[in-house]
Amino acid sequence: MSLKPNARVAVIGSGISGLSFTYFLSKLRPDVSITVYDSQPRVGGYICSQLTPIDEAHVTLEKGPRTLRGASDGTVLIIDTLLRLGQKDKINVIKSDSIANRKYLLSSETLLQVPNSFKTLIRFLRNPLGKGLIQGALKEPFVKASSKDDESVRSFLTRRFGHALPDNVLSAVFHGIYAGDIDKLSAKSTLKSMFNSEKKYGSIIRSIFNKKDKPSTSSLLSDYQERFKPEGYSVLELSKFLKNFPMITMTDGLSTLPLSIAKALEAQPNVCFKLNTDVNSLAIDSNQVSVNNTSYDHVRSTINASKLFQLIQNSETGAIASKVHSINILLINLYIKKDILPYHGFGYLVPMSNPNPFGLLGVIFDSEVEKGCVPLFNGSTVSFDKEQVDGVYSPADYTKLTIMCGGHYHDDRPFDGDIDALTRNCIDAAAKQLGIRLNTDNTHIEKTYIEKCIPQYNVGYESLKRDFDKKIQLEFKGMLSQGGMSFGDGIGVPDCFGQGYKGAVELAKGEKIQP
Ligand SMILES: Cc1cc2nc3c(=O)[nH]c(=O)nc-3n(C[C@H](O)[C@H](O)[C@H](O)COP(=O)(O)OP(=O)(O)OC[C@H]3O[C@@H](n4cnc5c(N)ncnc54)[C@H](O)[C@@H]3O)c2cc1C
Repeated sequence: MSLKPNARVAVIGSGISGLSFTYFLSKLRPDVSITVYDSQPRVGGYICSQLTPIDEAHVTLEKGPRTLRGASDGTVLIIDTLLRLGQKDKINVIKSDSIANRKYLLSSETLLQVPNSFKTLIRFLRNPLGKGLIQGALKEPFVKASSKDDESVRSFLTRRFGHALPDNVLSAVFHGIYAGDIDKLSAKSTLKSMFNSEKKYGSIIRSIFNKKDKPSTSSLLSDYQERFKPEGYSVLELSKFLKNFPMITMTDGLSTLPLSIAKALEAQPNVCFKLNTDVNSLAIDSNQVSVNNTSYDHVRSTINASKLFQLIQNSETGAIASKVHSINILLINLYIKKDILPYHGFGYLVPMSNPNPFGLLGVIFDSEVEKGCVPLFNGSTVSFDKEQVDGVYSPADYTKLTIMCGGHYHDDRPFDGDIDALTRNCIDAAAKQLGIRLNTDNTHIEKTYIEKCIPQYNVGYESLKRDFDKKIQLEFKGMLSQGGMSFGDGIGVPDCFGQGYKGAVELAKGEKIQP
């Protein structure tokens, strides 16, 4: 279905999903008028880079996301958008050989570096965390393929590789991405490529050596190139270039992205922001849908499933939305005026094989990331020469850390509400693991408890999503669509951004971009 001329559209949520959708819809259909609602007084949603006065300094503390992965279609669209908005000089990257790209896992209260060289590989394999990994990998090509339609991440990985990989390594990675439990998360949804490799080749390791599959060109990027035709380059070249960089960051924090998009949208006569405005009613009549009693031709919701459920409780679509479980996170920002970190790198994650009384998920070394990032484009022109992306890693003269805790651990052991005590315990645990002193005398501490922030793609999620897509279409006759993390392509900022583009194309032109 595509919109009639001069249609009126409402967008619920001015996080990155709502902004991306609005930005692209307004470009594709300048005739359409768009109203963006948000209950908060600012745009950006979870993206929130807060400039905080600490003594004489002004320090940026990230209260949510802080880095984007390089190799993703959504990231390509983000970078192209930032270039169009004149933000070229604010785009930074971490190079793969940068010290800031070192990652660690917690192994019995000390940090073990994830291998990035022969020496670190040997050290890793000799550590208790590495025990059983080689045997698991050698066995995998001979393990019979399963015909299960879905199963948990742990069940899938244990079946194929044995216990060591999920227990000691990948449970930590899943803490870093979903703050989730590998016993509940779906292998089909969160390990798509591995899951499909087993189905197609019978083995994941054998599929790596199978040269028959040529990498296919992304349909999303081809579509974008066709419609937006960047001046002087192709997004396919940009995509290839970005694959060299594991992480992207932005000067002044990730809020640079939503703020620059919102600024561009505010200048457009057909876009209007209603901030500080909670949407508390969403209803459909014969050929319109109303938001807080104002009628629109289409509504794009980008709020999470549980909030959507509150708006459409009496519908079957709402009933499906209520089945998506989301976890809570305690995020603790720490700032110390001296460099006290004995480790260099991005940070560490905690595997499920570690005893974990406070539900610590991981610690990010923000100061290391800040010192390790270099501008993506040097000079006045946009060029895709990776040799030109250069800069020196200078040791930080301060320490900035973010502790993440909670996630699925707070589902299993319901959190009793004493956030101060939990914060203290997490800081003490992290300090011990890092071998440093962190106390109120030397450390600026800020804590944020973020409720229901990350939807969990648990076993059965794919069929839930299919049912949701069908039901919303049927019940709301194409007048309501859903973006965001709960029923999207993934939970990262690039996933949400790419999905905003796809949703805008579908509504503006009536054309679906196939995966
Ligand atoms: C702690 C944390 C760390 C993360 N780290 C990373 C990272 O490093 N990299 C990465 O790629 N991703 C990361 N993510 C994921 C990333 O934050 C999300 O992908 C992204 O921010 C989701 O954007 P969104 O617009 O879909 O949702 P949101 O940002 O939640 O935006 C939804 C908006 O809707 C508004 N809203 C809600 N209900 C209503 C209502 N009834 N009426 C009006 N407005 C309403 C909210 O105020 C909000 O502004 C992280 C997430 C969390 C929680």
